Amino acid sequence: MGGESSTATPVAARRDALAQFVDVEKTYDGVTLVIKGLNLSIHDGEFLTLLGPSGSGKTTTLLMLAGFERPTGGRIEIAGRSIEREPAWRRNLGMVFQDYALFPHMSVLENVAFPLSVRKLAKHEARAKAMAALAKVKLSGLEDRSPGQLSGGQQQRVALARALVFGPRLVLMDEPLGALDKQLREQLQLEIKRLQRELGVTVVYVTHDQEEALVMSDRIAVFRKGRICQLDTPQALYERPCDSFVAQFIGENNQLAGRLQDQHSGVARVVLATGPTVLATTVGDAVNAAPGAAVVLSLRPERVVLGDHEAKRAAENAFRARIVEVIYLGDHLRVRLAVVDTSLELLAKVHVGSSPASLGVGLEVDLAWSARDCLALAQT
Ligand code: ADP
Ligand code: MG
Repeated sequence: MGGESSTATPVAARRDALAQFVDVEKTYDGVTLVIKGLNLSIHDGEFLTLLGPSGSGKTTTLLMLAGFERPTGGRIEIAGRSIEREPAWRRNLGMVFQDYALFPHMSVLENVAFPLSVRKLAKHEARAKAMAALAKVKLSGLEDRSPGQLSGGQQQRVALARALVFGPRLVLMDEPLGALDKQLREQLQLEIKRLQRELGVTVVYVTHDQEEALVMSDRIAVFRKGRICQLDTPQALYERPCDSFVAQFIGENNQLAGRLQDQHSGVARVVLATGPTVLATTVGDAVNAAPGAAVVLSLRPERVVLGDHEAKRAAENAFRARIVEVIYLGDHLRVRLAVVDTSLELLAKVHVGSSPASLGVGLEVDLAWSARDCLALAQT
């Protein structure tokens, strides 16, 4: 398994671990485990994202950290102290959820000052801090409005200011941008990231959007069916997914089913179900796979090289292919190709500036990719 796996993480506390899950399990109905053997160290100051499909256990994990749900097995520690018996309000966490959860009858300023009044700060001091927090999220001038008079994006900025105003060390966010349109979402992604860096605060962020996770995170924990299947940096997840599920979930790829013929020093010969035999790099559990084992190849569309000159210079895998479809997307083309004399079809991404002049449907072209760019993964 690539990177820091959930099952292999040592239980001993890391020096820089702000929070830890140790063998945590959770069932709601007493029968089904929705979280299974979860081990996770959250590093001080990092932006950690829990990424996974709907129902994989991300929110449950966050709610347990917040103290709103109790683990049914294992334990959770913050700063070395077990927190199960500590009520949520004493954990000093900032929280932002998808539905804004602002108090509708309070002004923007009162909303942001609320955590401070709960903490018994003097009124003038609370006001000054709330104003500063509103400035940080670029809402100065709107402090007297009510939440109902704000747009969705502005309401989420208020929620963000309220989560940060009391200077928590740890802030939890559950799909905070899920209700916003794409452009606003991308803008707020960068702003949240900037704030997190400026304040040096630790963020645990939940999303099912892999692009969002790649943009924002120092590390990403990929959830599947109540387990973390890989925990790594965005680059490592993209370049070295540990299995076909992670490869499929992070970024686009061609997934090609096949059988391992043999492998030497990490380079495998794989017979594809669609006909051709190709060379690939084994990673994760596939490193130990025996001849005959089923594997899935992951080949990113941008690593498929098209055109006569390049293709011939490149790589261990070279074929002739017919162009089936070309889609123009401004900065790049998506080209669907059928490899001649096989039933193998591939998607390639070609930068518009670098594409050979003629990429018309029906034409035959040279196509190639290197073994390094083609990962042989264990099937999941
Ligand atoms: P995610 O946030 O990744 O979508 P959740 O943590 O919300 O996943 O859910 C994980 C599993 O637990 C799902 O199967 C979900 O149906 C179940 N679940 C979540 N909350 C409850 C609850 N309060 N009672 C019973 N089952 C729940
Ligand atoms: Mg959820």
